[in-house]
Amino acid sequence: MSRPRRDIRRILVANRGEIACRIIQTVQEMGLTAVAVHSDVDAAALHVRRADLAHLLGPANPRESYLNIGKIIDAARATGADAIHPGYGFLSENPAFAEAIAAEGLILIGPSARAIREMGSKARSRELMEAAGVPVVPGFHGADQNDSTFRGEAEKIGWPVLIKAASGGGGKGMRIVREASEFGEALAGARREAEKAFGDGRLLLERYIERPRHIEFQVFGDEHGNLVHLFERECSIQRRHQKIIEESPAPGLGSELRGKMGDAAVAVARAVGYTNAGTVEFIVAPGGEFYFLEMNTRLQVEHPVTEATIGCDLVSWQIRIARGEALPRSQEEILPRGAAIEARLYAEDPDNGFLPSAGKILLYREPTGAGIRADSGIETGSTVPLEYDPILAKIVAWAESREEARQRLIRALDRMAVLGVRTNLPLLRSVADHSAFARGETHTHFLDDHSSNFIRGDRKIPWEAFAAAALANESLVSDSSTPRAGAALRRTDPWDGSTEGGRS
Ligand code: ADP
Repeated sequence: MSRPRRDIRRILVANRGEIACRIIQTVQEMGLTAVAVHSDVDAAALHVRRADLAHLLGPANPRESYLNIGKIIDAARATGADAIHPGYGFLSENPAFAEAIAAEGLILIGPSARAIREMGSKARSRELMEAAGVPVVPGFHGADQNDSTFRGEAEKIGWPVLIKAASGGGGKGMRIVREASEFGEALAGARREAEKAFGDGRLLLERYIERPRHIEFQVFGDEHGNLVHLFERECSIQRRHQKIIEESPAPGLGSELRGKMGDAAVAVARAVGYTNAGTVEFIVAPGGEFYFLEMNTRLQVEHPVTEATIGCDLVSWQIRIARGEALPRSQEEILPRGAAIEARLYAEDPDNGFLPSAGKILLYREPTGAGIRADSGIETGSTVPLEYDPILAKIVAWAESREEARQRLIRALDRMAVLGVRTNLPLLRSVADHSAFARGETHTHFLDDHSSNFIRGDRKIPWEAFAAAALANESLVSDSSTPRAGAALRRTDPWDGSTEGGRS
């Protein structure tokens, strides 16, 4: 390991929930001081209690707290932090945030503002990749945004065509168009949605690949010109273009294709002079052709899958690289072992279109044991606010083989309990237990294709469980100063018939 160029002693974690807790753990393990920031509804949140110092940003609305660059910089100044880790989401891919951090003389634990900006635009990144000789999905990303130009380009690409927001993310602004007659309306709809979600109505077109797989590569670069990849994660199990189960290695990915994709991922990172952790996402057609989708310039939700198979701590790598050190391992020294599968636990209501489910957690029990890792942002008594991403926790199972990891994950999910908010736990369990998943037949339409086989609602939970949890937490739920607690009780009231007998 080379000597650090810069000193980092106190790190402000500009995030909340499970990822803030995850980062705080490594910061403390490295003997550094972890500073949490929070909104008023998060004053007693787990990440605040785990940190060494905490600073109130403001009201629950993200624009006045976790998305407010000025307030986060002020918090760093007030707490004497010398570096900021942005986690994922919120400001993690905002180049203005990276610039504000640099202007303040602080260190961003992440890539340069320039790399964030270039990769933040789907259109610009497609352009860069084409120039670097990396395959991109056939499509159109020109500056000419006229309907007639789009129509002509769509005809050239051939139906079905996918319309995307040029500055998009989170699957927003995407429209699949299967025939010419639907195109005009879809274009107008996508433009409106992109304008609303990203303040940028510019669109691009791509050929819509049927039944593709989403396979991404973890990459890492340092300031000394070293760039490596840490192999792939298969993230095809998605609900509405959002990942719910991820794994490594990707089942059935031959070593030849893996090698080619790994080289392409490193070429992508090299094309932007990338430093720190990044993820290069590819879409893989059923015939094995692969195309660059986008690069995420931050730590990914599913990074534990890579940590499990490679045997490393990616947050520690990030901090060391931000200090100016060289990468701890060469490409030859990065050797995957065994298989890891991650399931994302979300607070969402399967009986209400998977809308976020907020309230007080009456009981939270997470699985432990050999080969199991749980990254959580909650505990019994936590409040789940409506204002933020509904992710609660991630359960990762590692074993020597994929099948053993899958069995381990199923048993871990069986041992897990969450009372107080509705979750997607039953859905995760039934996907992991599905025969097609067992065979490794993963593609992005998996959930739609097999939906009739999935249990979505909660398993039969006896009402005594709710009563016992409520009694055990009486002090929490009878506190009249927290209206959310009352809401949670109503939601789980065993006598209103909504939970008794369970639904599936
Ligand atoms: P976002 O940035 O909004 O998440 P992405 O470009 O990363 O959008 O795509 C998200 C998901 O949408 C992919 O994982 C894949 O399931 C699907 N997708 C994206 N592009 C295509 C395409 N050209 N053909 C088929 N599916 C696609």
